[in-house]
Amino acid sequence: MHVFVSGRVSLDLAGTLKWRRGETEELLPDGASAADWVVRAGLLTRPPLVDDAGAARVRVLRELVYDAVRVDADRRVDVDGLQSFADAPPVRPVLVDGRAERHGDLAAALSTVARDAIELIGSAELERVRECGRPECTRLFVDDSRGKPRRWCGMAECGNRMKAADYRRRRRLAQADPS
Ligand SMILES: [Zn+2]
Repeated sequence: MHVFVSGRVSLDLAGTLKWRRGETEELLPDGASAADWVVRAGLLTRPPLVDDAGAARVRVLRELVYDAVRVDADRRVDVDGLQSFADAPPVRPVLVDGRAERHGDLAAALSTVARDAIELIGSAELERVRECGRPECTRLFVDDSRGKPRRWCGMAECGNRMKAADYRRRRRLAQADPS
């Protein structure tokens, strides 16, 4: 299941390899899943042609992004690698019968993602990149909350689960200590 909760399309791409510190779950194993992700991410109106080599390109960009923005270890920014994706022509907005469509191929979609990543990495927004508070979840997001910091990548997958676990733990403690 693809979710878009990170506030940046490049961070959403980084999140398509789940549970990075444990047994990882690959959400983009082949061309069909990569093409589907590109459309669901809103990058292109119609799915691009993506073969296995194309899917591998998507995963290469994903790991370039993750290495550059991760918060649990030293960041490594492959400037040339990111730029090589960003230098391709990006997605084109096109008016079709009064509605904006987004046209391009896979290289265009990846260019748009790489440009998003470069803007993020080179801005103060990078300091607001957080990792989900569920220990095994390695999804990243931009914390745009004012005041109370955002803790979870999403309520459905992590927030509610962690709150339920917290509730069970407190109830067990209360039962163990009935004073
Ligand atoms: Zn999470």
